[in-house]
Amino acid sequence: MASRGKALAVAGISPFAYVSNPARVLFGSGRVRELAAELERLGCRRAFVVCTADQEALALRVASDCAAQAVFAEATMHTPLGVTETALSQLRAAGCDGLVAIGGGSTIGLGKALALRTDLPQIAVPTTYAGSEMTPILGETNEGRKTTLRSPKVLPEVVIYDVDLTISLPPRLSAVSGVNAIAHAVEALYAPDTNPIVSLMAEEGISALTRALPRIVAVPSEVAAREAAQYGAWLSGVCLGSVAMGLHHKICHVLGGSFDLRHAETHAVMLPHVVAYNNAAALAAMQRVGNALRQPDAAAGLFALNRTLGNPLSLAELGMHHEGIARVVEQVMKDQYSNPRPLEAAALQSMLARAWSGEAPRAE
Ligand code: NAD
Repeated sequence: MASRGKALAVAGISPFAYVSNPARVLFGSGRVRELAAELERLGCRRAFVVCTADQEALALRVASDCAAQAVFAEATMHTPLGVTETALSQLRAAGCDGLVAIGGGSTIGLGKALALRTDLPQIAVPTTYAGSEMTPILGETNEGRKTTLRSPKVLPEVVIYDVDLTISLPPRLSAVSGVNAIAHAVEALYAPDTNPIVSLMAEEGISALTRALPRIVAVPSEVAAREAAQYGAWLSGVCLGSVAMGLHHKICHVLGGSFDLRHAETHAVMLPHVVAYNNAAALAAMQRVGNALRQPDAAAGLFALNRTLGNPLSLAELGMHHEGIARVVEQVMKDQYSNPRPLEAAALQSMLARAWSGEAPRAE
């Protein structure tokens, strides 16, 4: 019999477009042992494996299972064109027909740069939480100038998330890399082209990372926490690859490019401040961020998370000079970026001054 009680209110859903970026994702401990089989599925006979110098031993061990391979261990930050060209000539000389990137965002950037130029199939094996493996975005530098492009050509065909490869990521790097991932999800919640599916992933991503990161800092080898962080990083990476990012990503790009600040650390310092700046203009999104953090105020919650994790709190400690603030504001104001709150020079100046000195975030 139909209930005679009061009907519950149902919230409407605004029209949206949802586009998913195709990738085959393998998740779980030990899955990297399936690399050879995955290369075979893609029809690759000889893999070109890229990594940083630090991770060469890991890459050699992982790649030793593959029938044939060449290892290039010179991946470096910001994907400089010179390194890509050296890798490209070695790849051609070795007659490779598939790409494997084992490492963080820097390594995955090199894999993408090679895929762009060769159209070869790619397998990414991420070992940080940066999320690049899930995006069709590539940032490259040439003579100090950074350019960013979007192309389906750079999206890896297969991503293997093997928790075992993340255990060695030092707690300090894990914590900033995790907040870098949270930043993708936060900006996805207020993106102009966001949609209910991406928002679900964003909230779940923030929630998983927020619970996992303090455990990782306390017990870096705890597999369950590492798995939760990697799951959150995957979801946040999907957010980054699916919808437009706002002021936070713009400002971090300018800060990194202008003062050579470290990528993940810059994201960690800036996120609470940008959230405070945008708060009143994106209340529904900020409520979802707060829910995921289990904190009443999103900006204060993120600042507290940075404190708990022992993350840097100021741009000054990352090596930026105070005089740089005006230059950043000028560059950010040049192209009005999509952002819930319009970009206002005076408010950006005060926000950056707070972030520079490490003060708590406040709506300017
Ligand atoms: P990273 O790749 O530069 O790695 C930092 C350091 O950690 C390196 O020395 C690396 O060898 C080491 N490392 C990585 N994993 C490790 C592990 N498991 N154990 C021990 N050491 C390990 O840092 P990142 O933050 O992952 O990537 C930053 C770069 O990625 C930036 O250039 C950024 O622009 C780019 N990025 C691009 C996208 C995109 O969508 N295009 C997204 C996020 C980041």
